[in-house]
Amino acid sequence: MKDLIQKVASHLAADRRIVVLTGAGISAESGIPTFRDPSEGLWARFRPEELASVEGFQKDPKLVMDWYFWRREKVLASKPNAGHQVLASWAQKFPGFTLITQNVDGLHEQAGSRNAIEMHGNIHRLRCFNKGHRGSWPLNGLPANCAECGSLMRPDIVWFGESLDPENLKKISHALQTCDIFLAIGTSGLVYPAAGYLQAVARLGKPTVVINKDPASDPGANFFINAPASEALLAIDSCLINS
Ligand code: NAD
Repeated sequence: MKDLIQKVASHLAADRRIVVLTGAGISAESGIPTFRDPSEGLWARFRPEELASVEGFQKDPKLVMDWYFWRREKVLASKPNAGHQVLASWAQKFPGFTLITQNVDGLHEQAGSRNAIEMHGNIHRLRCFNKGHRGSWPLNGLPANCAECGSLMRPDIVWFGESLDPENLKKISHALQTCDIFLAIGTSGLVYPAAGYLQAVARLGKPTVVINKDPASDPGANFFINAPASEALLAIDSCLINS
């Protein structure tokens, strides 16, 4: 493991363009369940697609808002962990650093990461269904109507089957095309388009790194670090400090 960590660290230098993609696994150590976590308790009987889709919302807005309200409560009760903090420090250390996250919890920003691309939105915001007017969560978490156009407010999150913000897609595409190394951290590689990023970079002949605590989750990266995200990131970071 030490050799592997040192090899990865040797690819991270000030003149390198580094792209990091994070998924729910990086926030698991902050106590936020991943989508496929049995600790979802009473929500485990629903498929993510039933709760995180336009169809699900149209069928039962209260159910969907309840679920997001519950998730947001968990986020509000949590703090960024060492993994988020290492990545925030890398943004300072490496001028060509891009952080892309599939997470909607805002913990990267809370850890100090500025300019993280939140490709799936942010759970702390609402926007209205018809026009995209922004709003904040009502204290009771119940479905509410937009103050400007009257349509229902929904979480400002990209749901299954929805398109990503074209501005974000443009920034991501540029970062992937021009990067020198790509790291995917705590993501199952099941949700597209993010699931395709590693292969896209690999096709350009650039090194790829996967950090995941599940040994079965290696998609064929050049470097697979089978460890919890914070442990792996702290270990890589300490090699940078000592080199
Ligand atoms: P996922 O739930 O599909 O997969 C999580 C991955 O993280 C798994 O491969 C798991 O083995 C790994 N993992 C779990 N704990 C880890 C740890 N401590 N260290 C390293 N790896 C760990 O998540 P996904 O790939 O991000 O895709 C699911 C979708 O749901 C995404 O859009 C995601 O953003 C969203 N989601 C977000 C949050 C959040 O904002 N925190 C939480 C759940 C789901």
